[in-house]
Amino acid sequence: MTVVDATQSYRSSVRTWLRDHAPGPAAGLPPDEQLRRAREFQAALYRAGYAGITWPTEVGGQGLGTAEQQIFSEEAAEFDLPTYPFIIGMGMCGPTLVDLGTPEQKRRYLPELLLGEEIWCQLFSEPGAGSDVASLQTRAVRDVDGWVVNGQKVWTTNAQWADFGALLARTDPERPKHAGLTMFIVDMHAPGVTVRPLKDMSGRAPFNEVYFDDVRIPDDAVIGEVNRGWQAAVTMLGHERVSIGATRRPRSNPLEFASLVELARHEGVAADPAQRERLAELYAHERALELFNARMRQEAAAGNPPGARGSVAKLAGALLLRRAIETASELAGADAIAWDPDDARAAELAQGINSAPASSIAGGTNEVQRNIIGERILGLPKEPQVDRDVPFAELKVGTQRQGGVR
Ligand SMILES: Cc1cc2nc3c(=O)[nH]c(=O)nc-3n(C[C@H](O)[C@H](O)[C@H](O)COP(=O)(O)OP(=O)(O)OC[C@H]3O[C@@H](n4cnc5c(N)ncnc54)[C@H](O)[C@@H]3O)c2cc1C
Repeated sequence: MTVVDATQSYRSSVRTWLRDHAPGPAAGLPPDEQLRRAREFQAALYRAGYAGITWPTEVGGQGLGTAEQQIFSEEAAEFDLPTYPFIIGMGMCGPTLVDLGTPEQKRRYLPELLLGEEIWCQLFSEPGAGSDVASLQTRAVRDVDGWVVNGQKVWTTNAQWADFGALLARTDPERPKHAGLTMFIVDMHAPGVTVRPLKDMSGRAPFNEVYFDDVRIPDDAVIGEVNRGWQAAVTMLGHERVSIGATRRPRSNPLEFASLVELARHEGVAADPAQRERLAELYAHERALELFNARMRQEAAAGNPPGARGSVAKLAGALLLRRAIETASELAGADAIAWDPDDARAAELAQGINSAPASSIAGGTNEVQRNIIGERILGLPKEPQVDRDVPFAELKVGTQRQGGVR
């Protein structure tokens, strides 16, 4: 079989399987039912050989390449799949464990993740540490047989469902801020872990604040090495960018080009030259980003990883979404902010419009992506970093008072 034949055959198997197994839209179902469907679908993906497509076979993955992953993502975009509870585990924590986990950690956690049995979250951001996450203040202090953690995290996606989290904590405040961090696996059901929902302006609560009060973590829960948590975080953030870039919104998403054309027809303005121009521009940007992402994946498959160009894709995706929000708001008019709750289409559109601006913040803000592009791709001078070599305990950062973390 030629490469082209093999690719077509893989695409056709994926398409057939998805057509036969994709559950119907989950929007509007009670949260417990949505979660049940998500778990069942993840297990079905695994049994069919479509979970962990690029993960090595030794850890339960399929050992395939980015080409197969790309085909799966393209075909999956035709459906509204219930994969949301697993995005952090499958896209970020799992791949980081594949790279850095001990053999025991891989054996314990990866199969459960692939099978949809356990949900993960990422515990990096804090009230005083977002873009500058290395300024975090959550402390892990050595105890006889492990660590004791105290502190607060925020914006933790899916923590309300999570069984485990990848926690970044400060283990040595006497070292400079990037050098005294460690990444841990934390049991989200352990005594002392409190999860509180945070609502965004769409009215939903996709993320949470998480408190740690004397939470005990065993020694074998360290991911990578003690005090090398920054390196582990960089590994995870690399996977995060790839995951955000590779995840395609379903075509049925209300902010996708095809849905907005439908909306223009519904509102009776599809023939209006100004609306047509807006929609054409949106299409051109959507297509350009698709092709840019496809090119990066092909280059990665050929041994040239995207590196800082992942930030171009992340920024372009956020800007595209902003353009889509403007077009959708113009077309929907007052329905964008005051919708009829009994009108499912209007409610879905309004929620899409109100939750989409978060994409300019989540996974690194647009400004931070611009800094990365400026410094690492365009070769512009670096931002001054006067705090890089100073012991963390001497810095006045976040909510820390001088000497407050010793
Ligand atoms: C939907 C959503 C989901 C999220 N999920 C998670 C999660 O699961 N786990 C997790 O750990 N975090 C999560 N986050 C947090 C996210 O990573 C942070 O919000 C983000 O990194 C920005 O940090 P901040 O909110 O503290 O803003 P800040 O860092 O305080 O930034 C405030 C403003 O200053 C600008 N700014 C900051 N530094 C610079 C600079 N050097 N140059 C120019 N401008 C700058 C920013 O662009 C922004 O406009 C999520 C956020 C969102 C919106």
